[in-house]
Amino acid sequence: MMTKMRQNEETLRWVRRYVAPVLVGWMLAAASLSAQVYPTPTEAKKVPLPTSVCAPCIEAHMEFLASDALRGRGSGTADELVAATYIAAQLHAYGLTPAGDKGTYIQKVTIVKRGFSAPPELRVGDGNKASVWLHGKDMQVRMLSDAAFAGPLQKLDAAAEPALVHPGAVVFVTGDNTKVRHARFGFVAKGAFAVLYEGMDDKVEGLPQVMPRPEGTALEKGHFNLIRLGAATATALQALPDGTLLTFGGTLKPEEHSSTWNAVGMIPGGDPALNLDAILLSAHLDHLGVGEPVKGDAIYNGADDDASGTTAVLELARVLGAGPRPKRTIIFALFGSEESGGLGSDYFASHPPLPLQNIAMNLNFEMIGRPDPKYKPDELWLTGWERSNLGPTLAVHGAKLVADARPEQEFFARSDNYGLAKKGIVAHTVSSFGLHADYHQPSDDLAKIDFDHMTRAIASMVEPLQWLANADFAPAWNPGGKP
Ligand SMILES: [Zn+2]
Repeated sequence: MMTKMRQNEETLRWVRRYVAPVLVGWMLAAASLSAQVYPTPTEAKKVPLPTSVCAPCIEAHMEFLASDALRGRGSGTADELVAATYIAAQLHAYGLTPAGDKGTYIQKVTIVKRGFSAPPELRVGDGNKASVWLHGKDMQVRMLSDAAFAGPLQKLDAAAEPALVHPGAVVFVTGDNTKVRHARFGFVAKGAFAVLYEGMDDKVEGLPQVMPRPEGTALEKGHFNLIRLGAATATALQALPDGTLLTFGGTLKPEEHSSTWNAVGMIPGGDPALNLDAILLSAHLDHLGVGEPVKGDAIYNGADDDASGTTAVLELARVLGAGPRPKRTIIFALFGSEESGGLGSDYFASHPPLPLQNIAMNLNFEMIGRPDPKYKPDELWLTGWERSNLGPTLAVHGAKLVADARPEQEFFARSDNYGLAKKGIVAHTVSSFGLHADYHQPSDDLAKIDFDHMTRAIASMVEPLQWLANADFAPAWNPGGKP
């Protein structure tokens, strides 16, 4: 007779050898049977969906995050907190390590807001010869990253190369309206302290606000001050020589405080040589909330922007979390308040779960819920493709990533990857946004999502990421690529 212990071992071996495979086979058969009985809408397509990801999981996240119940996940609202809590619960269920505050998956961020108590002014010229232009009368503040600024005037045509900007200048841009709107981003990215342009809005805006900042963070992404000028003021400015001193400022109200929330989890890497070169996968969980109704709909659901990216990060967390432990650490971060200026990611960059120098790269997912007609159906584009070796290397390893074909849109600077890139992380955004008309409209809802495309897009990243998580590849900026 065998010992009890040995018998148990024997039984266990027998179960492993004979019973388990039968059970697994039976479960697989049951799963495929139930799939036949209850086909998902995507199964109607000819090419079968990849099995590495779970199509109903993707649909379920989207159905919740983009539902009217979440009221558009407005930045810094209670609805955003519900979205962050849902995401945190999923990261927990996938067995990820909490990487938020005090052993939780949530990172709470205090936001500081400042506004003016009287119309601010733009002072043109020095000393007693200076003219003073008032907000609401001669000019209009459109956006302010700084409560006050001063710099020399630089006049530029909208078609001018952004490289012509003198860093620190207050740029007055002239030309065709559409070109002016696009030029602003390029000029700001090249170091303009402020951008001025003609065209005051008829709508009476109250006293301006300075863009809110997370408490305890510096202005990482550079200055973003936009001022519209009245016709007479624009003509007067045009007549002044470059170098004329322009000074902006006013009286501020006391600070106001509010909150936003990030959800963060991670898979700790298993290889001491590589686990300090972590991968950060991210998206933003917020959108525009409830706003101006369009055709009777006031909920800006943000299904594509960016429930789709959030869902991609969640599904990648599930798949990668269920696989063998990777050599590198993988951090999964869903940021709050991207839509109000990348506030959640700014805070994350100042309060990362690992020292920032140990986060080697970031892939940020934005708007992958619909294919971009400019590309092949299953392709995704990467912002700032030519800036680093990350996108091309992932493409070599099977990712369906290609270069962003609309550099004039400055997408590289328009999402959470940008602040992280400014901090040195090789950070890009993955997208298939084809400039659709539902961008930032209540009509960006579930009905417009192409789940077949979205599921394939997420699945296409699994193997390249598994390679990346185990390879000793070092991502690096190309010369001049780091913003
Ligand atoms: Zn977005």
